[in-house]
Amino acid sequence: MSDQPFVVAVDGPAGTGKSSATKRIADLLGLIHVDTGALYRGVAFQCFEVGFTLDFDESDHDAITKIAQKAQFEFKRIKSKNPSNRLFLNGKDVTSMIRTPDMSMMASRVSAIPGVRAALKGLQRNLGMSAPSILEGRDIGTVIFPDANIKFFLTASIDERAKRRLSELEAQGGDSPSFEELREQILKRDEGDSTRAIAPLKKASDAIEIDTTASTLDQVVIEMAKLIRAKMNKAG
Ligand code: C5P
Repeated sequence: MSDQPFVVAVDGPAGTGKSSATKRIADLLGLIHVDTGALYRGVAFQCFEVGFTLDFDESDHDAITKIAQKAQFEFKRIKSKNPSNRLFLNGKDVTSMIRTPDMSMMASRVSAIPGVRAALKGLQRNLGMSAPSILEGRDIGTVIFPDANIKFFLTASIDERAKRRLSELEAQGGDSPSFEELREQILKRDEGDSTRAIAPLKKASDAIEIDTTASTLDQVVIEMAKLIRAKMNKAG
């Protein structure tokens, strides 16, 4: 392969444990963690800020594409007892604000706009090219890094995914939807993400599929890290 640093691509639908697992693996193996969903959520946040609602239509696509083109993103690693990755959008820390159910739905809607995907592609490539990294999203193994050193596709049953999302939202505090509402929202998002015309959510033919339904986070991390280490050793 070229001078490209080692890249791990992790794709899969919401609630499969992608974020938790990739963060842990990044720390364990000294990789940069890139949460690409946060970028789409950032665009969603900016759309709400300027007054768009979830029922925007095609006549709004150009304006939303401009928002994505102008957005200045910066991931910052905050080193403390509990280190965390913060996302700054146009200088503002939006890390917590982009995690609500409305942001999830808006992110899914704006991510189907070709101009938005094009605007975020270069940034994702640059982040992955800057150092050995692990990127998580929906199209990393298929579109952003089709030449990644190793690819994973995580899955889990819908009930398990809704359960995990509910616990996450409850841990954040504030109002959370019911289990049933959350389940419906995730199914709707899956449907939109898998059927969109551009870069739909799908497993790359050379990705390793892991069903996380009955596994603990530790088990998933151990399994993935073992496979990544083996590839790293081979790549030298
Ligand atoms: O991963 P997360 O749930 O934060 O992603 C939010 C939304 O962003 C997804 O539902 C999907 O529509 C979109 N997304 C995408 N491509 C990526 C990452 C996220 O389309 N690589």
